[in-house]
Amino acid sequence: LNARAVECISELLATLGMQAEVPLSNWVDGELLAGQGEVIELLDPVTGLPLVAYRDAGSALVESAVEAATRGQQEWMALTASERGRRMTAAAGALRGHEETLARLESVVAGKPVRDCRGEVNKVREMFEYYAGWCDKQHGEVIPVPTSHLNYVRPVPYGVVGQITPWNAPMFTCGWQLAPALAAGNGVVLKPSEMTPFSSVVLAMLLENGGLPRGLINIVNGVGATTGAALTGHAGISKLVFVGSPESGRRIAQAGAARLVPSVLELGGKSANIVFADARLDDAVAGAQAAIFAAAGQSCVAGSRLLVQREVLDVVCERLARAAGEITVGLPDDDATLMGPVQNARQYQHITAMLEAARQQGARVLCGGSRPDTLPQDARGYYLAPTVVVDVTPDMAIAQEEVFGPVVVVMPFDTEEDAVQLANATRFGLAGAVWTQDPARAHRVAARLRAGTVWINSYKAINVMSPFGGFGDSGFGRSSGVEGLKEYTVAQSVWVETATSASVAMGYGNGV
Ligand code: NAD
Repeated sequence: LNARAVECISELLATLGMQAEVPLSNWVDGELLAGQGEVIELLDPVTGLPLVAYRDAGSALVESAVEAATRGQQEWMALTASERGRRMTAAAGALRGHEETLARLESVVAGKPVRDCRGEVNKVREMFEYYAGWCDKQHGEVIPVPTSHLNYVRPVPYGVVGQITPWNAPMFTCGWQLAPALAAGNGVVLKPSEMTPFSSVVLAMLLENGGLPRGLINIVNGVGATTGAALTGHAGISKLVFVGSPESGRRIAQAGAARLVPSVLELGGKSANIVFADARLDDAVAGAQAAIFAAAGQSCVAGSRLLVQREVLDVVCERLARAAGEITVGLPDDDATLMGPVQNARQYQHITAMLEAARQQGARVLCGGSRPDTLPQDARGYYLAPTVVVDVTPDMAIAQEEVFGPVVVVMPFDTEEDAVQLANATRFGLAGAVWTQDPARAHRVAARLRAGTVWINSYKAINVMSPFGGFGDSGFGRSSGVEGLKEYTVAQSVWVETATSASVAMGYGNGV
């Protein structure tokens, strides 16, 4: 453990009234437990030095977690729907007073600015409050079938769902999937990214202690090949929900398919941010810089392709480069920091390798492209200055692949048709934005974008009430809103004979 981690974790444990030596690596059946597998060592994103080490959960702990979730789910469903809603509201309330500690824990491990982490905690509370209201409003429906039957449809929970989340927004993605799963009546075993293990454990502990049945939520930490595979392959898991890269998403969907278990995949993106010449350029540039540099570009919906109408290309590039240079890059625990480091060494190497390849193919780095020179001495970790890349052609890897870092590529277009073609020329389809003062054009273009979320004169607006998800390699299924809730239930159709005698045909001649 390094000093910052020690300080943060001891402060967290003291706030929670817990002993100093408690493991934070797993939350299983209402207990904090250490894993038994290989040691996983995490490096500090700020310094690149060792931060903390813990043991992979491994299959035995996954086994216990699924058993606990099975029991927890039965207890959960034995409550009335309204009581489940009250308990979820209480769980949301249990986060109050711990926001700052959770945010600091997240910030120290993920390297995210603490102000972003506070936002994540608040979003989790909102998610629980929102879905608490759905608990007693999933009422099914009656179908007017043309026979003497009463036919009604009930939404039925899957039972125990397996969830797997990434490192870029650990608490957000944890709460995002826990809340609808519980509101729909399921128990959960969730595996966060091995890079950011602890915040989901503490979050689950606080939520469960706030009034949920013991074992309803279980968090197991470890790498994909061990703990992850044990979870996706477990016979007690009836649905898989995955948030992460397309490469891992494919493996999760395949593991599900092998057992005929359905999955929801929330994957990466290469979102187009389209600026027409008639846009309010100050807003468009402010939107473009936040779209890519917030969270150091480590956001699935990052506006990583900036498409600009040719007549305003130079002015937009110049203003964007200026805005990029003004972003405060610094230590995550400093309130003034807008952009911190990239989370881990592997990701940093991926970003710098993509930049180098782009340079060799003829792209030009307009600003950034290396470490910022304003950082404190010991911040030798994975920092990259906000980077704008121009002279990019659509066939370059940097225009097609997810960089997942503070790097935006700028490409010009001439007509509305060109803009739509260029925006859709990607295997991804997660998000996109249109900047224009012509409302008819805004809606016309939005309707033609193959993207699960489209913003008009805005970027990154999200809310738990509105559905979210992708097209193509950005995944399938939806999260948030009622669509996100429905992913966690399956429809059961019940037929009741209402005729006075059973002389009706008992199914012969129906063709099935
Ligand atoms: P990743 O795919 O490397 O890892 C995600 C999770 O999958 C981790 O918990 C990892 O341990 C696990 N995993 C990997 N292989 C596995 C296997 N075979 N079996 C079971 N689990 C396995 O992704 P990452 O690098 O952590 O996250 C970044 C990616 O996530 C980016 O592509 C980003 O766009 C995407 N993302 C998408 C959304 C969304 O909502 N669409 C949100 C956030 C992040």
